[in-house]
Amino acid sequence: MSTIALDASDRRELLDRFLRYVRIDTQSDENSTASPSTEKQKDLARVLVGELQQLGCADAAMTEWGYVFATVPSNVPAGHAAAGKVPAIGLVAHMDTYHGTVGAGVKPQVIESYGGGDLALPGDARQVIRFADNPNLARCVGHTIVTSDGTTLLGADDKAGIAEIMTAVAWLGRHPEFLHGPVRIGFTTDEEVGRGTEHFDVAAFGAAYAYTLDGSDIAEIEDETFCADSALVVIEGHDVHPGYAKGKLVNAVRVGAAIVERLPREFLPETTEGRQSYLHAYDLRGDVTRVEVKLIVRAFTEEELREREESLREAVRVVQAAYAEARISVEFKESYRNMAYKIAEDPKVLDYAFEAVRRLGLEPVRRAIRGGTDGSRLSFMGLLTPNIWAGGQSFHSVQEWVSLEWMAKASEVTLHLLQIWLERSAA
Ligand SMILES: [Zn+2]
Repeated sequence: MSTIALDASDRRELLDRFLRYVRIDTQSDENSTASPSTEKQKDLARVLVGELQQLGCADAAMTEWGYVFATVPSNVPAGHAAAGKVPAIGLVAHMDTYHGTVGAGVKPQVIESYGGGDLALPGDARQVIRFADNPNLARCVGHTIVTSDGTTLLGADDKAGIAEIMTAVAWLGRHPEFLHGPVRIGFTTDEEVGRGTEHFDVAAFGAAYAYTLDGSDIAEIEDETFCADSALVVIEGHDVHPGYAKGKLVNAVRVGAAIVERLPREFLPETTEGRQSYLHAYDLRGDVTRVEVKLIVRAFTEEELREREESLREAVRVVQAAYAEARISVEFKESYRNMAYKIAEDPKVLDYAFEAVRRLGLEPVRRAIRGGTDGSRLSFMGLLTPNIWAGGQSFHSVQEWVSLEWMAKASEVTLHLLQIWLERSAA
């Protein structure tokens, strides 16, 4: 049995892959209804298909939606205690980058043996990654750090995850003595615009369990996401010439503003953190006759999600009473649910992840994400998918950075996972 560890040349390969992938612009577009939202995401998809085929994944292919799927077949010999019993495990990462920050023309900066202190970014003198603002930099002294030049994001979210999975696949190819069950690789598009699983065919993917590599800090495993709904408040007023409006005008603009003002202060994104819930009015538009207010509702439990929705209904009731002539409607739509509900139904997918982290000599850190992942949707589509760190820091910003050592550990943890699934299937 080979020791699971990336050696110096594996790490070099991991870095080279990462640098290659981040130079390909894959920014998604929240205003597009196409799939993928931007054609350029397929530029990276095509590169990955070619590389996967070179690594021996004969079935590697891009779907019409731009997803990349591939298989590393099981190499468990007939007669082995686990032969035919190891479930297929999926490794998933997303190819797109955040729509709000420039993703074209990424010029990665590699700092070998980081000595501590601030990191100046060569493309923009105003952009400095401050040691004091990034507590994790202190944990990465001596590491190889990668940043952008300060004019673009880096794209470690989630090309770090892709490079880690690709390096694990390459490692498996170089270590045929390392036994593992079937591994399914899935690279998605449009995660950043919340559409990463829109065309994800879970049955065709064929994995029994999966892991996304899309988190941040080393040793962190995330099995909880928000429960998320959206809300639409529509206010219909009554327009009259304002010079002759006394007793007749019903101004939807004032009604809409009153509702937003009525939302409880203690449940706003800017006043909450950790496990607290919020109600967020993010779009308000219209005129005297009609106003639409768009909101999102977020909480870690369904009960609390209902409470926040009741906060909105209460605000509407109070305002309705003050503007009896206005017609106000509220409608909620489900976005996604906390994947912890699903994972609790079959917790070994999580337990094995903790065990894999321990085998790296680290203490696993269980965390809840104040957001969603591809994994939260996949979990509700029948494929339980906790999230593992990928290493990136300050996601979505021009000060994004990543440690190569943390990336290497993420790659190694996937290999430990495969080994644990094999061991437990043989037992
Ligand atoms: Zn991500």
